[in-house]
Amino acid sequence: MALHPLLARQLRRAFGSADDLPEKSRGFVELVGQAYEQFDSDRKLIDNAMRQSSIELTDANRLLREENDAKVDIFDRLLETLKILDANEHDSSFSLKDIVGTIERLVKERQETVSELRLAKREAESASRAKSEFLANMSHEIRTPLNSIVGMVSLLGETPLEKEQLEFVNTIQQSSDALINTISDILDFSKIEAGEMMIESIPTDVTMLCEQVVDMFLGQARSKSLDLALYISPELPDGVLSDPTRIRQILTNLIGNGVKFTKQGGVALIVDAERDGDGWRIDFVVEDTGIGIPEDHSKHIFNSFSQVDSSTTRKYGGTGLGLAITERLVQCLGGQIGVESTLNEGASFHFNIHAGSLQPIENGRITQCVILNDLRILIVDDEPLSGRILSAQLQSWGLESTVCDGAKNAIAHLKKDMAYDFILMDFNMPEMNGAELAIELKRLMGDSLPRIVLLTSRGVEPDVAGEIISRRIAKPIKPNELKLCISELLNTNDSVHENQVNSDTSNPWSGQMSQDFARSSPMSILIAEDVAVNRKVIELYLSRLGYTCTTVNSGIDAVEMFHSDTFDLVFMDMQMPEMSGLEASRLITESTKFGKSPYIIALTANVFSEQREAAEEAGMKDYLTKPLRPLVLMQALKKAYKVISSSSS
Ligand code: ADP
Repeated sequence: MALHPLLARQLRRAFGSADDLPEKSRGFVELVGQAYEQFDSDRKLIDNAMRQSSIELTDANRLLREENDAKVDIFDRLLETLKILDANEHDSSFSLKDIVGTIERLVKERQETVSELRLAKREAESASRAKSEFLANMSHEIRTPLNSIVGMVSLLGETPLEKEQLEFVNTIQQSSDALINTISDILDFSKIEAGEMMIESIPTDVTMLCEQVVDMFLGQARSKSLDLALYISPELPDGVLSDPTRIRQILTNLIGNGVKFTKQGGVALIVDAERDGDGWRIDFVVEDTGIGIPEDHSKHIFNSFSQVDSSTTRKYGGTGLGLAITERLVQCLGGQIGVESTLNEGASFHFNIHAGSLQPIENGRITQCVILNDLRILIVDDEPLSGRILSAQLQSWGLESTVCDGAKNAIAHLKKDMAYDFILMDFNMPEMNGAELAIELKRLMGDSLPRIVLLTSRGVEPDVAGEIISRRIAKPIKPNELKLCISELLNTNDSVHENQVNSDTSNPWSGQMSQDFARSSPMSILIAEDVAVNRKVIELYLSRLGYTCTTVNSGIDAVEMFHSDTFDLVFMDMQMPEMSGLEASRLITESTKFGKSPYIIALTANVFSEQREAAEEAGMKDYLTKPLRPLVLMQALKKAYKVISSSSS
């Protein structure tokens, strides 16, 4: 079987040899191979278009420069003429006719220059617009086959699989995610260049956002045995006005790079805030203990397509676009970004944003309501960065803490001073792990042992210390969770035995979808989608959730269906030949013939916001971008059911 070289390499890396694929997986892998081929040819087209439009822009620029030079020349000559006029003021032999002629010529030349400049500007703008449109179309073309891959893989992951097959599925999933990221990067970059990046100003919970982003990298960090730490200053308000999507994008890129370029140690996110006029200035630092950046490179590290050297691409992948986008996004949020680094020791990216003020929001968070003071806490953690962050976090709540860098040190320290209220103990430590240390301390100290909170990594084997441990918290430590844990322990005299170590997380799809879903949210559903594989993916997703759907493959057929049937919910693809999803939706919602309007959810691979507005105008109620994700789909179904059931009761 001839495989695309990239896919073959990934399979070889994961499984030794691509020829060892099980017979039944070959067809599927071939399908993925074809999508890779398609991606390759699409990428060539994009490159071509970008090159083409940059040639046009360069030409237009050259023209502008030449015209500018000509303008300077004209003014020089005008000045010259005025001087002659001045010198010959009283000279009757000087011909006034000559002067008028010269001025007329100059004015004409000037007018020509202006109209040429206008034309050049119009051409440059239209080239830039064409580039953006082309990229939007390309993104759609690439996302469509990717949608099938992601959808199929997601469904495949739901079927009973052997361990090796599950690894196959995970590899394909990761590769398609990487492709989607690259496409999104190119698209974002072109949007920023074209000045089309829209920045929102909506209520944003920065703490929760940081926790979510850090959570996203847990798996990756765990597989490299890296620590992830998070520090949120108490100054940070519960809610601010900003753009959570862009903040998430910036943090994802910086923390992603941190994890990517760090082999040992860890990555920390540190967030601080201070009042800035009417609003807030929020400072973020993403610090790692990785390979670092050579000094001469830190200056242009934020330039587009810039990587430290070409071996970076071979070893770590990436496009060199991430930091360029990050810098522009930070600027869009009213801030600045910079980096400090020592080669082979690590890098520290710091940026700030300006955010608007918001009245405190009620979201169940506990930061402001628990008062902790006069507590002494011992931290035992071999990773200095984590220990330091934890200690700073406790100090910000007015708590005194001491850090020991390992079991030996902790035992020696406690022998001298045991007046601690709590011990926060890392599980993963060399020589003696946290659970073993707890058992040893219990043996040495008996009932005078302070209560122990064990800091575990998600997915590790449950420890053996049982009841000696009062609480277990998964790393990275989230300030709110830690605060809640400490305050709860203060309110309970008995130890609370609660194992928070997550069980198997290797199959991210297991147990998410069930047939009960349709029983609790019954709806009649129509799917209108022209691409067969897409239709199949959504139909399969919905049948997993217990729905039996009607499907049609055009906008015309969708409208036709309403003559004989009614549906509560329609999944409507936006791009269909002959009659688009927009037109079909308009006909269905505007016609009184069909009775009550259905709840229509737009499906599209196009990520531009005008599409969303167009969908709303056409009477569509929700908007999902492909590739569909099970969780997002389920949320949309729940939302739809709520509206449908309340309007029918
Ligand atoms: P990408 O990671 O996609 O190549 P970026 O713009 O995010 O693109 O990063 C550009 C380059 O900057 C990387 O290729 C790498 O050489 C360097 N770099 C970025 N972050 C770090 C970091 N935390 N540690 C070391 N080098 C980094």
